[in-house]
Amino acid sequence: MKIPFVDLGCLHERLGAQIERALAAVARSGWYVLGPELEAFESEFAQYCGAAQCVGVGNGLDALTLILRALEVGPGDEVIVPGYTFIATWLAVTHAGAVPVPVDPDEHTYNIDPARIEQAVTSRTAAIIAVDLYGCLADIEAVRSIARRHRLKVIEDAAQAHGARGRTGAAGSWADAAAFSFFPTKNLGCMGDGGAVVTNDRTLADRLRLLRNYGSRIKYYNEIAGVNSRLDPIQAAVLRVKLPYLDEWNTLRRRTATAYSAQLRGLPGLVIPQHDTDAPDHVWHLYVIQHPRRDELQRELRAAGVETLIHYPVPPHLSAAYAALGLAGRLPIAERISARALSLPIGPHIGPEQTAHVIKAVRHFCEGCAGRDAAGETRPVSSHNT
Ligand SMILES: *Cc1c(COP(=O)(O)O)cnc(C)c1O
Repeated sequence: MKIPFVDLGCLHERLGAQIERALAAVARSGWYVLGPELEAFESEFAQYCGAAQCVGVGNGLDALTLILRALEVGPGDEVIVPGYTFIATWLAVTHAGAVPVPVDPDEHTYNIDPARIEQAVTSRTAAIIAVDLYGCLADIEAVRSIARRHRLKVIEDAAQAHGARGRTGAAGSWADAAAFSFFPTKNLGCMGDGGAVVTNDRTLADRLRLLRNYGSRIKYYNEIAGVNSRLDPIQAAVLRVKLPYLDEWNTLRRRTATAYSAQLRGLPGLVIPQHDTDAPDHVWHLYVIQHPRRDELQRELRAAGVETLIHYPVPPHLSAAYAALGLAGRLPIAERISARALSLPIGPHIGPEQTAHVIKAVRHFCEGCAGRDAAGETRPVSSHNT
């Protein structure tokens, strides 16, 4: 059995006719930038998130960068970011002209550790970016209370958490502003690049609408020095077809996560996500396990037809892009996770049969590993290092 990590074509089998009709309608309308299709999606997505406003932009990185600019976070400011995230979270801070100040993640949730945020606050701190990593909402209440105490803005990077719902609201509804990405492989993805900002702050949304469109409300009259970063109507049309299915797809992801957790629990050497797989605050964008022999496990799974990926093999502070910050060794938890993490296939294309096959292959590796280790202990002459 071959199990690809993602299979976007499989969604097209079911929704293809609807998507093609929607694309044809945009083509016929002759309205290819901004306009009614985009506005319709913005209002549907804001409503879905339980927030007042949605502003469609070119991609998730721009969503984050423009939020920072709209909040007037820039040169001279520090922004607290998770030490363990996709690098775009950090790049947004850099592009806004501010300095990312990372904190090590919570070992169990992988998300930013509120206990470490407070120690990182200085007189220059302007904002905190909390990422809902792998689809799991960050610790909303803790982050918000620290932000209130120090008068900091809170930005939610919800690029992996479309549809996650906590006690105090959905992804996109609880921060000063939230950034979404509609990159094709996200829980809600379009057919190219796309992104959005969701917020309850009308003034901020208004400023974002200016920023994404050259700083202009009326063509050729520019109020601020904006950029060109708008969600295309053609992408909005695709997203409008897909949005009604998002909850169903997230339920499928939860079902797979539940099977993985139930049947991989307690295997020697293996760490599984420490999260209640049925809880609505996790939409399982990724199901990430850890194993000290991660690379061997990945090779064995590949041989069994199971494609896996690593999120992320290099934490941002160890990437060449941020070498100048000199933070190597300073985020030990992020470094340890990145050396051990492995993402198993999850998504609407993974059914019970595929799940069972993945589980069997992981079990086979872990049990075989433990067996070889035990044999090594009883026969110390064997060279189990080779
Ligand atoms: C995907 C992603 C982004 C960036 O989104 P793009 O649309 O690819 O620019 C930002 N943050 C996180 C956590 C992401 O997963």
